[in-house]
Amino acid sequence: MKPRIGIHTSISGALENAALHAAAIGADAFQIFTASPRMWRAPAIDPAQAEKLKAARERLGLAPLAVHASYLVNLASSSEELRARSTAAFQAEIERAAAVGADYLIVHPGNYKGGTLEEGVARAAKSLVESARCSVTGNVISRVLVLLENTAGGTNQLGGRLSDLAAIRAAAQPKMPLKLGFCIDTCHALAAGYDVASAAGLRKTVAEIDRVLGLDNVPVFHANDSIGALGSHLDRHANIGEGAIGEEGFRRILRHPRLRGKTFLLETPIDNEGDDRLNVETLRRLSGV
Ligand SMILES: [Zn+2]
Ligand SMILES: [Zn+2]
Repeated sequence: MKPRIGIHTSISGALENAALHAAAIGADAFQIFTASPRMWRAPAIDPAQAEKLKAARERLGLAPLAVHASYLVNLASSSEELRARSTAAFQAEIERAAAVGADYLIVHPGNYKGGTLEEGVARAAKSLVESARCSVTGNVISRVLVLLENTAGGTNQLGGRLSDLAAIRAAAQPKMPLKLGFCIDTCHALAAGYDVASAAGLRKTVAEIDRVLGLDNVPVFHANDSIGALGSHLDRHANIGEGAIGEEGFRRILRHPRLRGKTFLLETPIDNEGDDRLNVETLRRLSGV
């Protein structure tokens, strides 16, 4: 088995463009936003564009496709107004993810400012259950797997600890038809204090992911190097090899026997033209496939 290597690409101009660009820079898989990640208002997916995207993916062998939810969504908010707004927005995210034929919908678990961590977990679970009551039902929707992403664990942020993610899933899954899994971001993990950069730290972290979340429930990793140091709680992505994880760190991650079947999606900065292609090439070289 070999890892699938992918990258976040833009749907600017047309949905299909994200697939074309991913293939052009050598990716096997890709991630998109289905709307502007910093705006509440989002137009519905044009079915003709979705068909073109699906055709391009088939033609180019691009899989899986992940959708990343809007940054505005805060499912754990202690403001009932913001939580309701987030739940409605996330329901629309689920519907759009299904409409574009996505395999995964990735969301950050949220911020519980003004409440306790336990309340945050309960609210995030409640919001997930409410979001999953979609106006569109059936196979199309239930094919989308919702992945809760770990975070750098900043102040009042859920998901810095793997146990937060497990607790949300445990509370929500029995009450919702959509399947819940997890996405592990390497930069967020390091910043939250999981030492994925060293050999011993990676062994320990992978064992903990398996024990707390179950590796089978983690189909996707976000492959980002980290500007911040171990435990810095800083969510700032660096190019592969240019951060605190480094090339050696990523070589171990990509070649870890338990992670060989996973998809690694880049969310690295594009400061200079071609940086995206370079990061894809670096991951491929380090993975040895
Ligand atoms: Zn990420
Ligand atoms: Zn991040």
